[in-house]
Amino acid sequence: MRITVLAGGIGGSRFLLGLRSLGHEITVVGNNGDDITLFGLRVCPDLDTVMYTLGGGISVERGWGREDETFRLKDELVAYGIGPSWFGLGDLDFATHLARTMWLHDGVGLDEVTRRLSERWQPGVRLLPSTNDLVETHVLLEDGSPVHFQEWWVRLHAQTPAREIRLHNAEHARPAPGVVDAIADCDVLLLPPSNPVVSVGTILAIPGIAEAVRSTAAPVVGVSPIIADAPVRGMADACLTAIGVETTAYAVASHYGARSAGGVIDGWLVDEADVAVVDKLSAEGIRCRAVPLWMSDVEATAAIAGAALELAVELRG
Ligand code: GDP
Ligand code: CA
Repeated sequence: MRITVLAGGIGGSRFLLGLRSLGHEITVVGNNGDDITLFGLRVCPDLDTVMYTLGGGISVERGWGREDETFRLKDELVAYGIGPSWFGLGDLDFATHLARTMWLHDGVGLDEVTRRLSERWQPGVRLLPSTNDLVETHVLLEDGSPVHFQEWWVRLHAQTPAREIRLHNAEHARPAPGVVDAIADCDVLLLPPSNPVVSVGTILAIPGIAEAVRSTAAPVVGVSPIIADAPVRGMADACLTAIGVETTAYAVASHYGARSAGGVIDGWLVDEADVAVVDKLSAEGIRCRAVPLWMSDVEATAAIAGAALELAVELRG
């Protein structure tokens, strides 16, 4: 099957490891909301997490950045008083951002840059940015001051409540070449258990992408990143609270909404701990199944991906 996946960083790439082991043709539309310019370099954290994870270069312990990493360059910059020091850019990782920025300066599009970087990492999927245009997620703090998403997430640990989260410059952005076709022409479209606000939400915020998801002939199935009313890893609850959505598997599905009612999903997987919401969601037009959703290893994750595909095939009738 030709499967398209809208993925964030860690949750998305873990899911992709399981899905890839099932042997389908996979296109990944990656999130650009996390992108940031640091030290004059364009950094695309979620694209890199997917690329490094699937290419075997990720630090398994940290979940981001490279294995066997050192931070000498960053320390040197800090010694010159050049920050930020709170964002972890390792020496090996710096090379990726240098290469990306050099190509971007030459006028190469981010889609082609991503293809060139992937040539080295051989992730076994086609990795596309959501857009070639410059976008980034901004967070409006309670006092009204705007900060880059990374500053809120990494420096402030999302401890300061957010009043609003939005994809800056989204209105001027277009989907990257191949993105709309990958959504329109696939057999199954999957939303992995990525952050619904700052990963999947920011992909859908690129004008044209949500429309493509609503109108594709392929069934759209999502996997809940929330188990028993809590994010499995990370601080997705802080993002959901900011947009007025409860941190439950039910509320996230309801936020995405049934495609039959103008939303973006047809099917939804919840963890067995949330089996109670299955009937409630089905009544809202979202076909729901409860299966174990802990991505503890590749086999367990492959079973989750398999369950999502099964539900998709069932939905296709
Ligand atoms: P990020 O960009 O690195 O934050 O990663 P994503 O947006 O792709 O995914 C983050 C989400 O993955 C978090 O909200 C977690 O709740 C979810 N997640 C992480 N591990 C698991 C897991 O084992 N099972 C499920 N169901 N969700 C998970
Ligand atoms: Ca991310």
